[in-house]
Amino acid sequence: MREKPAQLVPLDAPDAPAVSRKPLFGLDAESLSTLLVSAGEPAFRGSQFAEAMYRQWLREISEISTLPVPLRTKLAAEGWQIGRPIIARAFQSVDGTERYLIEFAGPGGKGQTAEAVWMPEGDGGEAGDEADSEQNLRAPSIPRQFAEWVGETKPQSALSPETKDWSRATICVSSQVGCAVNCQFCLTAKLGLQRNLTAGEIAGQVVAIIERHAVRVGRDRVNLVFMGMGEPFLNYDNFMAAVRLLVREVGLSPRRMTVSTSGIVPGIERFALEPPDVRPKLAISLNAPNDAVREEIMPINRKWPISEVIAAVRRVPLRPRERITFEYVLLGGVTDQAEHAREVARLVRRSGLPAKVNLIAWNPGPGIAYTMPSPEAVAAFHEALMGEGIPAYIRQPRGRDIFAACGQLKRTIEA
Ligand code: SAH
Ligand code: SF4
Repeated sequence: MREKPAQLVPLDAPDAPAVSRKPLFGLDAESLSTLLVSAGEPAFRGSQFAEAMYRQWLREISEISTLPVPLRTKLAAEGWQIGRPIIARAFQSVDGTERYLIEFAGPGGKGQTAEAVWMPEGDGGEAGDEADSEQNLRAPSIPRQFAEWVGETKPQSALSPETKDWSRATICVSSQVGCAVNCQFCLTAKLGLQRNLTAGEIAGQVVAIIERHAVRVGRDRVNLVFMGMGEPFLNYDNFMAAVRLLVREVGLSPRRMTVSTSGIVPGIERFALEPPDVRPKLAISLNAPNDAVREEIMPINRKWPISEVIAAVRRVPLRPRERITFEYVLLGGVTDQAEHAREVARLVRRSGLPAKVNLIAWNPGPGIAYTMPSPEAVAAFHEALMGEGIPAYIRQPRGRDIFAACGQLKRTIEA
């Protein structure tokens, strides 16, 4: 299938470049208070600032009417700005999915954009677990369509969302620009790792999108999946700082958040120690029935084989009824055979974890030499797992026509 064996690449990412302007989005209320106190202001100004950025979604210091005008002027004069990421471009799929090019504050230029996705869902038909975290799951059914690869995207106004025609939605968030993990089937891997996103840049994607769709925090059923570009557990501190912001400042529930990792063991070990009030649910990209196949498609497996990943996952204390998700990308002929399903079932059973398996038919991408599984193979794999008593769901391909589906997030436009 490939001429060269998969390579392990360095996993360290450069941090965000130093910015000339000073973005405040990303600081929590406490840090804002500290900052403002050092500028001679009372501490409560920090909460006012946080309220303005994270609850009212204001984008300019000049708009924060709770702050005295001289303070607003002074902060702006000193180069401070809210600096929340903005939706620079939006692409809409025939299925309602929207893909965004998110532009970050700062000096601009290369490495300053990433992508995020909005997946609306109508009522009914959703499967999944008690917290309905992944609304694009339906079971048991085979994917409705295996659309042909469509290479064209239709730019849409970044400012004109549809009127509200969704009752639930899932937002897919990026944690890095590009990715170093080098999974052989993933388009994001082709970018290599350009840089880590800051906490404000990660949380800011969510705020920009919930503003666009006028989400009512605490009322609308909106789920977050950290499954966009990048490996969250290789940008652990910023990723978790973003989660804390989203929970404590923006007001979203960690029970409606899922982080997916390719199996970065030190990250999983740290995650296990996070307090439950800020810990999202965990998904592991298993993607193969055994180490031999996994090594071939995910070179990271040489560093952290399946048994080590599972041992680390076992240390994560789960909430009542919470389950670990194993994601499994079906690659035609490579991971979609009947014996693979039996092996996966055995592996999941032996893990002793309360778990479910999400099956994802591989989404093709330019320059990636795999083939899609046939609909029959997907259905057979699903049935085989269910037959072995393993809860399994087929994840619907969403927004495939706009490159928004899993593994298709790769910047197509430079800001
Ligand atoms: N880096 C993290 C999260 C982002 S990838 C991780 O790998 O878990 C999110 C999911 O998309 C992963 O489960 C990954 O295996 C899957 N994926 C990547 N490329 C894909 C493709 N081309 N088709 C289908 N799924 C893909
Ligand atoms: Fe990175 Fe995830 Fe893609 Fe692997 S699947 S290259 S970890 S984004």
